[in-house]
Amino acid sequence: MAVRLLVLAWLLLACSDPGSDEPPSQAPPPARVTDSNDAPAQPEALETPSQATQPPAEPTRPSLPYRCRVPALPIPRSRACVRGQPYPRCKWQMPHATLAGGRYRRWRNTVVEHWWGRPALVSLILAAADEFERAYPEQVLAVGDLDAPGPRHSTHDRGVDVDLYLLGAMRVENAGGGRYPNNYEGKSEAEVEELRSRVETLARILAACTNGQVRIYYNDEAVIDRFLAWYDAQGFRPNDELGRPMQAHNRLHEFHFHVTVPEDLPLLEREPLTEGRADPIAPIEPPPPPNSAPHLSSMNRRPGDWAAVPRE
Ligand SMILES: [Zn+2]
Repeated sequence: MAVRLLVLAWLLLACSDPGSDEPPSQAPPPARVTDSNDAPAQPEALETPSQATQPPAEPTRPSLPYRCRVPALPIPRSRACVRGQPYPRCKWQMPHATLAGGRYRRWRNTVVEHWWGRPALVSLILAAADEFERAYPEQVLAVGDLDAPGPRHSTHDRGVDVDLYLLGAMRVENAGGGRYPNNYEGKSEAEVEELRSRVETLARILAACTNGQVRIYYNDEAVIDRFLAWYDAQGFRPNDELGRPMQAHNRLHEFHFHVTVPEDLPLLEREPLTEGRADPIAPIEPPPPPNSAPHLSSMNRRPGDWAAVPRE
């Protein structure tokens, strides 16, 4: 009888998974999350002598249906990486979007010289884009600046920041030319909810693939509340230096995620490259001067700060 009750309790635990309202995903379980924080207590009493002789079962996890594996793409890196030197001498660059099988594209104002960052950050972006594409294959994910110190940003200078855009799905669109149309205006409540689910899914993937060690600036209270409730339910612990994993920030964060990870974020595993493919070695190119490329002089702070931006 006691065993039956335990089985029943275990089934209830398995069915009360807070992550089960994910959109349909082709990604197979289990999640990569390995920290014991998020694993419910094991029903140890269920183990009988006959079961004890079998190989140990996979631990029960909350259903984070994300593998968080880097797809088998060659990733450009500086020679210092081959020599075993650390960041910033060693940086990885996002592979060209045409190699990424439609998983992402480069944000229109981002130059390839601003697509370098810490290896772990690049591995996170690649794995997250892969997961997101499984959930929403038709949704365009644009990857903006990684390391891009200078007038565009007050951060993006330590290899830990990246800007991500879900075109047409975030609250506001940066349509260019100073136009910022509201993506949710004129849409039904159901349509808005669907778009918000896309945004929240990207945030969940980023949290799952960093084991909760992430901070996202994004301005939509509905998404923030839901994401934080989900995050807490997973048992993740926010990083002390980053603070709450999703926060509102200045107005620019209505049309993109500003994502920050800790400097010691671990590298994610990558699918093995196919025979004959290798990671290209490339020099870390400095970006062109901002005044030679008009879109590089734009400032990723408050739009109202434009006049105060020093131009060289
Ligand atoms: Zn940013």
